Amino acid sequence: MSRIVIIGGGIAGLSAAARLAPLGQVTVLEAEPALATHASGRSAAAFIEDYGNATVRALNRASLRHLSDHAGGVLSRRGVLLVARADQADSFASDRIDMGMDDISVPEACDMVPILNRDTVAHAAYRADVMDLDTDLLIQNFTRDARASGARIVTGVRVDAIARANAGWTVRWKDGVADADIVVNAAGAWADHVARMAGIAPLGLQPYRRSMAQLPAPEGHDVTAWPLFEGVDSAWYAKPGAGKLTVSPAEEDPMDAHDAFTDDMVVAEGLARYSEMVTTPVTRVETTWAGLRTFAPDRALVIGPDATMPSFFWCAAQGGYGFQTAPAASQLLGDLVAGRAPELPGDVVTALSPARFG
Ligand SMILES: Cc1cc2nc3c(=O)[nH]c(=O)nc-3n(C[C@H](O)[C@H](O)[C@H](O)COP(=O)(O)OP(=O)(O)OC[C@H]3O[C@@H](n4cnc5c(N)ncnc54)[C@H](O)[C@@H]3O)c2cc1C
Repeated sequence: MSRIVIIGGGIAGLSAAARLAPLGQVTVLEAEPALATHASGRSAAAFIEDYGNATVRALNRASLRHLSDHAGGVLSRRGVLLVARADQADSFASDRIDMGMDDISVPEACDMVPILNRDTVAHAAYRADVMDLDTDLLIQNFTRDARASGARIVTGVRVDAIARANAGWTVRWKDGVADADIVVNAAGAWADHVARMAGIAPLGLQPYRRSMAQLPAPEGHDVTAWPLFEGVDSAWYAKPGAGKLTVSPAEEDPMDAHDAFTDDMVVAEGLARYSEMVTTPVTRVETTWAGLRTFAPDRALVIGPDATMPSFFWCAAQGGYGFQTAPAASQLLGDLVAGRAPELPGDVVTALSPARFG
């Protein structure tokens, strides 16, 4: 039975563990004391089928059934509303087409989100099939499935050396060591760093910070049934949930891998862009946080064996869609490790392969 060490206990590593545990003896090593501490604990928790490039959209579509049905499903209806000023007509038109949304009138938009400012909102479009994705539940489900198939999940273990040993690998940390036939690199923003540790060329993955500010629900409003609403050109978005409104400046600021934190100025500027389109002023920010969305240069995930070292698998570059792609991405990883014909079409598998970087 293959010994498989997975480095990283976020959604990438845990979904990988669920798929690989039936195939071998899986150990997940996570540096932090708790699972899903970094990007996977900080997301907007949405499923948007037409988000990302064509390769990512293929993963979104292929993940939908698992997300809807497995263990009772993790999706619930939210919808998305795009709003724009009169002078943003061109951006509105291209965003609306890109996201497959239907034009609606401003009064219809205000019926959905009553705080929209009729003096500034001149265009609106809507799409109903955008979902809330219960990220905690998805993590729990994959973790439970992995453990049920015998996976060992260890937290508080920061891998600091990975060496070739015979046909496999020796993975070391401060006070421990594990031998493996296969290493899976699911280290999120640190994936290139982990590759270097193993003597493998990095792929040029780039983490970008994205921040969130949680506001109380605007006074007198029940936000439960509001859609996610957003400005054009990815200038800001606001997501209702649990009686709160979470507003993101939707920034993409390149960063080195680290425990991300917000920049007050970036959050304030994002809240100003949001405020321009609503009638209720932001009087209180309850909490803020930031996470790193890590992208490959072509913005598709990287799933598969390293081009130079077939026992080193990448499960990285989940970008801004790591949850909504996790079922299909981890299924592909399982297919490739097992040597099965992948369920995904060949062109998608090629577009996800680490070998595409030459
Ligand atoms: C603000 C924001 C909003 C988002 N919104 C959405 C959304 O709506 N929908 C969606 O699908 N996605 C969304 N995402 C993206 C999603 O959160 C990420 O794609 C996903 O969480 C990445 O998961 P991961 O497991 O690759 O990374 P991480 O969750 O960061 O996990 C990697 C783990 O590897 C560990 N690690 C690193 N180095 C080592 C080492 N040497 N030894 C041991 N462990 C190590 C780290 O501690 C970390 O826990 C959002 C992200 C952000 C930041």
